Amino acid sequence: LRYKAQPMLLATTLALVAGAAMGGAGGWLLSFAAGRVREFYLAMMTLGFGMIFYEVVREWTSVTGGVVGLSGVASPSLRTLSLFGWRIDPVAYFQIMLAVVAGVVWLLRNFITSPYGRAFFAIHVSEVAAGSIGVARASTKRNAYTLSAALAGLAGGFYAHLVGYLGPETFGLHRSVEALVMAVVGGLGTLTGPILGAIVFTYLPEKLQVFAEYQFMVYGLILLLSFVLLPRGLAGLLLPRPRFSKDVEALPPPPPVPHAATGTGPLLNAEGVSISFLGLRALDNASVTLGAGEILGLVGPNGSGKSTLVNIISGFYRPADGVVRFDGGVLTGLADHAVARRGVLRTFQDPRLVPSFTVRENVLLGGHRLYRQNPLAAALNLPNALREDAEMLGRAEAIMEMAGLSHLADTPVRDLPYGDQRMTELSRVILANPRLVMLDEPAAGLSEGELIKLGGLVRHLKEQGVGVILIEHHMDFLNELVDRVVVLDSGKVIYQGAMAGMYRDPAVVAAYLGTETHPGEAVHA
Ligand code: ADP
Ligand code: MG
Repeated sequence: LRYKAQPMLLATTLALVAGAAMGGAGGWLLSFAAGRVREFYLAMMTLGFGMIFYEVVREWTSVTGGVVGLSGVASPSLRTLSLFGWRIDPVAYFQIMLAVVAGVVWLLRNFITSPYGRAFFAIHVSEVAAGSIGVARASTKRNAYTLSAALAGLAGGFYAHLVGYLGPETFGLHRSVEALVMAVVGGLGTLTGPILGAIVFTYLPEKLQVFAEYQFMVYGLILLLSFVLLPRGLAGLLLPRPRFSKDVEALPPPPPVPHAATGTGPLLNAEGVSISFLGLRALDNASVTLGAGEILGLVGPNGSGKSTLVNIISGFYRPADGVVRFDGGVLTGLADHAVARRGVLRTFQDPRLVPSFTVRENVLLGGHRLYRQNPLAAALNLPNALREDAEMLGRAEAIMEMAGLSHLADTPVRDLPYGDQRMTELSRVILANPRLVMLDEPAAGLSEGELIKLGGLVRHLKEQGVGVILIEHHMDFLNELVDRVVVLDSGKVIYQGAMAGMYRDPAVVAAYLGTETHPGEAVHA
């Protein structure tokens, strides 16, 4: 950065690009550690790194100039910065920065409303839910961190030219805390929030000169009050809720094409699966097979291992023994997002959604494994990305229509009753164009009308050649849908076959149905 007047355009551009690139590279390196922690720990880790970096800048005199710093950076305030022979004064410099900020905000807004942006939010809210729709946790978190660091590096390049000097104090803890306060008070998770925060905290310190000595205390106090009184920041208070999908015209969905039948074997074959938790054998040599277009009821008393089996097939748990084969390949050993990417999707016993997202945005999350657009096309709103968004939106609208959610499409799911949340989660799974779907007690908490819609959706999946595993206690509901049942008890398969035969099976009656129960009754073990 230590250069004199000429040739300035190249040097300045290089400084900005190199600032962003080096920031990004530093962020990428750091993200391997940062990806292991969340929330406040992540903030603490980042601040900790800042403190280390400050010491490095101070001590590495040959590169950074040590405590003396680097002076002589071309700067508008020193009248030493000119581009194309045009002397840049502070006003012109401000205009250039404003244009760059506007450009970056535009790119970020496009990015946030793309599948990549939605994945960032999904990871933030629930890593389990994000994994279940095919979002790779580690790389997604690394990308978010690297992107932030690159933007900070770009800002650093502008800052160096602004003041014409870089010293260790530029990298002090003070600066990091300031940026944190701006983001938190402005509103985390929004684009406009940090801008609001930056404006407020650029003017406020000037007005609060009297507090200069107590600035850290004042910031701490503001941070605390903000967490308590304004959890969603100034943006949450003053601005409408941000969108997380692009404003495109939905294209009519293509006619459904059923999945072609798979080769010779069954679609799914879980063989001799076992797993223990703290000595408790949750699954004991359990085997289940399922064909394409088949609906399998998975029943058994609470604690018999039904959810555990779903967790194993979906890659969330690794079995101690046994192997899960799917469509000619092996799922065992794959991470959950890799299993989802192959078309094996599941819902959870308690719906896992992004509460601040609308129904539509939550449903769109399901498309994650299908998107082909790259991040650059998404950020630039290139025609191919917008077209894909419009197609996905069209499919999402059609699925929401089937699920009876169309009138709620713009409602954040945190404001919705349980039944609607369940239907939203199921719609998210259907948008993923799955080959195998596992539904963990989907009927729990649904009204009569919603049950009928749920039954319709499950039949729709069957018609598409999708294999469905249905965990349910509601026997009436199962009776109408399933081709076959598997009954689990204490982690062992005690029955499989037609549902009618289950009622006559002494082991099932003893373990699950009890003598009082008759066909057509709901069983709550
Ligand atoms: P179901 O879905 O049939 O009601 P689960 O599969 O949830 O039953 O649980 C089976 C058994 O495994 C239960 O005893 C449960 O407590 C235990 N279990 C499941 N997951 C875990 C876990 N992560 N840690 C410890 N125990 C678990
Ligand atoms: Mg369960």
